Amino acid sequence: MLDADAFRRWMAAAAAAVEREAGSLTELDAAIGDADHGANLRRGFAAVAAELAKDDAPDSPGAVLTLAGRQLISTVGGASGPLYGTLLRRTGKALGDAPEVDAAALAEALGAGVAAVGQLGGAKAGDKTMLDALEPAVAALAEAAGSAGPYAAAAAAAARGAESTVPMRARKGRASYLGERSEGHQDPGATSSALLFAALEKAAGE
Ligand code: ADP
Ligand code: MG
Ligand code: MG
Repeated sequence: MLDADAFRRWMAAAAAAVEREAGSLTELDAAIGDADHGANLRRGFAAVAAELAKDDAPDSPGAVLTLAGRQLISTVGGASGPLYGTLLRRTGKALGDAPEVDAAALAEALGAGVAAVGQLGGAKAGDKTMLDALEPAVAALAEAAGSAGPYAAAAAAAARGAESTVPMRARKGRASYLGERSEGHQDPGATSSALLFAALEKAAGE
């Protein structure tokens, strides 16, 4: 079971990963976008970490994610801010005020969050976006929920999903303006989604 502390650790680990990988995320975005993905997420997750470090930080998993999502929406200008913000807010809302959640409950809530991302951005699997990492990660989490290491399974699926975007042609977001020239590059948002699930694995202590 993961409590609010574990969720705060998740967001702190995500902030640290984004800080560490900001350069490579921006490099990926330089190839098929506008070279700001690392800076966008670094700004957003730094705001999330600062908010969650306060004394009156929220005390349920759902409230932690709702607050984090709100911060991302209000601090990130790029497409990824509203999209990740929606993911976390919708997931947090689905978790409600339960003091602890297990992998099955988190997978179900994340499923609602990922569906909301699809609705907001109009993208589907195979369009070379963050969804190509998020969808398989959530599916793996749901499938492994009853067995050992569900968070490791989700992180591995997210990483494979990010790699799977390399040959894809982008159909949504800035990269889609490049048409076939977007092929052969890993999608920046799918790459940061893999970081998010690696951070969850770390926070869950697997
Ligand atoms: P911007 O493109 O506005 O500069 P970022 O560079 O921060 O924003 O984020 C780009 C990432 O956002 C892409 O790599 C992609 O994964 C994701 N993205 C962009 N548009 C969409 C969309 N419509 N649906 C899902 N994800 C998207
Ligand atoms: Mg960009
Ligand atoms: Mg931009």
